[in-house]
Amino acid sequence: MVPRLMRSRFVRGSTAMSELEQKELTFLVKGSSAEPYEVTFIKDRDSLTALCTCPAGQYGNYCKHRIAILDGDGKAIVGENANQVATISDWLQGTDVAAALADFRRIEKTVEASKSAVAAVKRKLARAMNS
Ligand SMILES: [Zn+2]
Repeated sequence: MVPRLMRSRFVRGSTAMSELEQKELTFLVKGSSAEPYEVTFIKDRDSLTALCTCPAGQYGNYCKHRIAILDGDGKAIVGENANQVATISDWLQGTDVAAALADFRRIEKTVEASKSAVAAVKRKLARAMNS
């Protein structure tokens, strides 16, 4: 990660210097098709872009391939750079992607808690009906 002082110098600097700060990493990820998908992350200052060549990703929709890597999970990576997954975790910090991912995780937990509550109420209802 670029130290904060250097980053602000780049921001004030020329376009060429800003371009120098843009970083890109691509992973090959095993999905449901025969050919692996390409998952590309582009870090430009405080912005993180994540692209995937899977059918959902090509349409800009949610896909698990990008989320897995953002979560630091490199199990599906078939390329030789799985060790660079930690770099993506660094790039994620403080971005709007991190905020949206945190929202997603929070809502997922709410859904899980609701499913447990529904299951408990179903058991209670079954007991009430059987007695
Ligand atoms: Zn994908």
